[in-house]
Amino acid sequence: MGYIYGMLGISPQVEGFGERILEGLKERFTEIDQIAEYNQAKVLRAMQENRVSAECFAGSTGYGYNDQGREVLEKVYASCFHTEAALVRPQIVCGTHALAVALSANLVTGDELLSPVGKPYDTLEEVIGIRPSPCSLAEYGITYRQVELLEDGSFDYENIKKAIHSKTKMVTIQRSKGYQMRPTFSVEQIGDLIAFVKSIKPDVICMVDNCYGEFVELQEPSDVGADMIVGSLIKNPGGGLAPVGGYICGKQAYIDRCAYRLSAPGLGQEVGASLDVMRSLYQGFFLAPTVAAGALKGAIFAANIYEKLGFRVIPNSTESRHDIIQAVELGTAERLIAFCEGIQAAAPVDSYVVPEPYAMPGYNSDVIMAAGAFIQGSSIELSADGPLREPYSVYFQGGLTWYHAKVGILKSLQYMYERGLVSLHEV
Ligand SMILES: *Cc1c(COP(=O)(O)O)cnc(C)c1O
Repeated sequence: MGYIYGMLGISPQVEGFGERILEGLKERFTEIDQIAEYNQAKVLRAMQENRVSAECFAGSTGYGYNDQGREVLEKVYASCFHTEAALVRPQIVCGTHALAVALSANLVTGDELLSPVGKPYDTLEEVIGIRPSPCSLAEYGITYRQVELLEDGSFDYENIKKAIHSKTKMVTIQRSKGYQMRPTFSVEQIGDLIAFVKSIKPDVICMVDNCYGEFVELQEPSDVGADMIVGSLIKNPGGGLAPVGGYICGKQAYIDRCAYRLSAPGLGQEVGASLDVMRSLYQGFFLAPTVAAGALKGAIFAANIYEKLGFRVIPNSTESRHDIIQAVELGTAERLIAFCEGIQAAAPVDSYVVPEPYAMPGYNSDVIMAAGAFIQGSSIELSADGPLREPYSVYFQGGLTWYHAKVGILKSLQYMYERGLVSLHEV
């Protein structure tokens, strides 16, 4: 092992440090394997139940009428996530698009959308119209209200109750923390929140942004009352193989509207050619529980390494996990850059390029990003990024296999160690 890691530029000191950290993680990794085993069986059962066959991979062109592969895949998602219906399409270009479809399909002029969990993901600000944008919900006369979380990250039930009124049509709950410092919510917590909302107004539609959360727990938000769950296929459920796409799973009536919004009123779910991507969507979904487990192990490994070295890590080394994202406050630009260079150098694709901080639209400081992925922009593959400002936090996620995530983390540590930015003697 030392020999092959040496070939990858990882020194015995760094490798040894990693191995000592790993010794303490055996129990947690066993727990993750058990969740993956359960979710693998869940996906397998959904595929068997819906009689997935070789014909499903054939794809279609043009209008995409009678596309068996597309129809069966949607049934597989619905079975697996225990919903009445599903819309799983390569025509959904990303997670933001899937969320925009779910929102704009089920809200009309005069309705109000409520986020009881504080600010939503950055890209949703334009969708909702929090930041003015052409074609936002606001432009169509859909209002928006938000209730902040309490200081300890819990739900502010009192103010949520006050915010629900006759116009409140939909509630949006983001499971993962995104780029915020709040905790990610467990499926159980989301269930409690939905039950509370429904106790005040039973016909409110509860939508969950499920990005990065799929297959991290035994249950999904659709098992605890969510009317719709929404996500991206270049994150967890695509298993690293899906080249594009998004999903919306939920109640038939809401999914019907999503299909009309995605294609056109009157057309709905009957159209949409699947081209040549069906095999990847099926195979990716089949692998997704294992891939998510590998990414989760990587996140926990990183948290334990960097916490041991004295950095603040979110979630911390022992907390239970509800998504695959890990944040580490590295404190200086040099460390942030070294971390990202290490992740890039560990990639199977573009390992020879050096990431550099640059000004990106929508950010008020330079940002550095590391990714060398088979699917462009895929964040279920090993990737890291962070804005060059205090507290110089890096957000790290993915890894198609645990072994690759491990190499990536060791390599990030190697770069910092070589540049004298961390001391491995502290432990
Ligand atoms: C990734 C993500 C989205 C959607 O992002 P896209 O880049 O459009 O796929 C939305 N919400 C959360 C919490 C996410 O992590």
